[in-house]
Amino acid sequence: MAALKPTIVRGGLESLYFTGAHHFLKPLLGGVGAILTLHHVRPPRFGRFHPNRLLEITPQFFTRVLKDLRRSRVDLVSLDEMYRRLIEGDFSRRFVCLTFDDGYRDTLQIAYPILKAEGAPLAVYVATSFPDRLGELWWLALEAVIAGNNRIGFTIDGRNRTFDCATVAEKRALYDELYWWLRARPTETELREFVRNLAACYCVDIAAFCKELCMGWEELAELAADPLVTIGAHTVNHPMLAKLPEKAARAEMDLSRSVIEAALLKRPEHLSFPVGDRTSAGPREFAIAAELGFKTAVTTRPGVLFPAHREHLTALPRISLNGEYQRLRYVRVLLSGSATAMWNGFRRAEAA
Ligand SMILES: [Zn+2]
Repeated sequence: MAALKPTIVRGGLESLYFTGAHHFLKPLLGGVGAILTLHHVRPPRFGRFHPNRLLEITPQFFTRVLKDLRRSRVDLVSLDEMYRRLIEGDFSRRFVCLTFDDGYRDTLQIAYPILKAEGAPLAVYVATSFPDRLGELWWLALEAVIAGNNRIGFTIDGRNRTFDCATVAEKRALYDELYWWLRARPTETELREFVRNLAACYCVDIAAFCKELCMGWEELAELAADPLVTIGAHTVNHPMLAKLPEKAARAEMDLSRSVIEAALLKRPEHLSFPVGDRTSAGPREFAIAAELGFKTAVTTRPGVLFPAHREHLTALPRISLNGEYQRLRYVRVLLSGSATAMWNGFRRAEAA
C-alpha cells in the first residue's frame, strides 16, 4: 500500500464511502477491533515540500477521530486489554487500540493531553537509539538535503549522478525516487551509508532530528508513569529487520526491551516492527518476537483484527491514521475493514 499514489487510495476510500459499501461489508469484514498507527500529531506545517506528511495528522483531526470513535461506541483499550480479549475470545464490544510509533515529543506534548482528558489508553513504541540520541531518522535527513538544495550529486553503483531539485515538483519526484531506491537496497547498511554520506556532503546533521523531535528518557519516564500509557519496544536502531542476519534481528528486538526496562523499570511486553511492511517483517521476525516472549507484535500491514489473530499475536495488522487522508469518512471506511479487505485480497489473518 505504501507505494500506491495517495490520489488512488483516496479515490478507493471515497468510492467505498459514497457507495455505502462499507456499511454492508462491515458485519462481514469489520472484525472484532482494530489497532491504529500514529506517528506525529502536530499543527500543520506550511510550505509545499512535505514528503513525510503521511506521518503526521493535526490535533484537530485527531480530536475528531476520537469523538467519532466514542460516538460509535467502540471501547478504547490498552494493548494488554486487547491481548486479553483476543486470548479469551471476549468480543462482546468492538475495540480500538491507539499506538504511536517512534516516541516523538509531540506524542507527550499534544496527543497525550488529549487522550488523558478522554481517559483513553495509548501505547508508545520506542526505538531506544532515539532517546539515546544516536538514532538516524534517515528519511528526514533525505528530505532536508533535497529541501535545502537546488541540485544534488552523488555516486550510485560507481557512477556520479546529478539531479536538479530546484522546484517543488522536482523535489517531490527526486525524494520519491531516492526513497524507494533506498528502501529497495538489499541491506540496511547500504541504505544508512548512502544517507550518511549524502547528509555529510550537504551539511545536514542526522543526529539533530532525534534531539529536536524525539522524547528523551526523562520525557518517556513522565509518560510511562501514567497507567494509561504502555511503553512498547521498537528495536534499538529502527532497521528493516528482515534485511538483517537472524542474530542481529533478534538482538535488535531483545536489546531494545532490556534498554527500556533498565531506563523505565518496566519490561516491555509489546513490540512494533520498524517500517513494518512485508520488506521489513515476515515469518522469521514474527517467530522471533514470539520466542522472545512478546505478548503481541504489530506490523504496518493494513487490516482490522479478527478472532483468528489469536493464533498470530506477533503478526498483527494495523490501520494507519495517515496525514494524506485526514477525513473522518476515510477513517470510518478503514475501520469498517472493507478497504483493507480489498487490499488484502479478502484474506483475514495473514502471517506469511
Ligand atoms: Zn518507526
